[in-house]
Amino acid sequence: MPRIAYVNGRYVPHAAAVVHIEDRGLQFADSAYEVIAVMNGHFADEAGHLDRLERSLGELKIALPMPRRALRLVMREFVQRNRLKNASLYMQVTRGAAPRDFKFPANVKPALVMTIRPASFGKLVARKAVTVPDIRWKRRDIKTTALVAQVLAKQAAIEKGAYEALMVDDGGFITEGSSTNAWIVDKSNNLVTRPTQNNMILKGVTRNAMQALCKKEKIKIVERPFTVQEAYQAAEVFTTAAVSLVTPIVEIDGRKIGDGKVGAVTSKILSSYLAYAADPEQKQENWSAR
Ligand code: PLP
Repeated sequence: MPRIAYVNGRYVPHAAAVVHIEDRGLQFADSAYEVIAVMNGHFADEAGHLDRLERSLGELKIALPMPRRALRLVMREFVQRNRLKNASLYMQVTRGAAPRDFKFPANVKPALVMTIRPASFGKLVARKAVTVPDIRWKRRDIKTTALVAQVLAKQAAIEKGAYEALMVDDGGFITEGSSTNAWIVDKSNNLVTRPTQNNMILKGVTRNAMQALCKKEKIKIVERPFTVQEAYQAAEVFTTAAVSLVTPIVEIDGRKIGDGKVGAVTSKILSSYLAYAADPEQKQENWSAR
């Protein structure tokens, strides 16, 4: 089946989809993005992702390319044209195309592109991770396309035979994965994840949903920074993100985590999320993109 892309109001064959050479997304990473899972024909955590997109664009002072109502219609039309029930939808908004100049261009319309690819959900695939220094800028709360630090982190992981890179701040604390939020089950059996204050990590939409689900399941969550040493000694480590959902990390820097198998809390979190995402009316409780 031919894949269709969306480029500034047009649905075009994926192979023929192009943007302007002076698009500011390309020139400066002057752009924000979202990745949203389509699960069994429904968008998972749609409101959370669109709230965060609006917030990212607000922080970058990029106008919304269209009102949310219109964007939701385009997203639906786009999925339908691609005839996919389970997929990951990528959308990117840039400040637009203009002659290369750092300052904001006048009278330029933001650009919107979308791509989609098939995905499957619900399997726990145990992975290895390595730790790398977190060399990113200080506004990690904004989901910009300036991802080269994460590209290097992920490549370093791959070159060491691992799958994910856990990024580490100057104090030896894990910030997050290259494209995921990180969690551990500590010695006191608390589920621990780093707080989102100070803009040191991206406030994951999946992370947020998991937190609400844990409250329901009476799994105790503690939001606090945790060190690499703690992660090595944790009973379980896993990451969360919109498309990979829950990824068990069973080895970090060559050290086995817990018994080296997928843990009970990790499995529980995934099954709760799948049940929640299967409900098309799902609401994000306590969601705030701010
Ligand atoms: N942290 C980073 C750096 C990310 O790039 C992502 C997703 O792309 C996440 C966390 C997870 O966020 P979400 O659950 O909203 O996909």
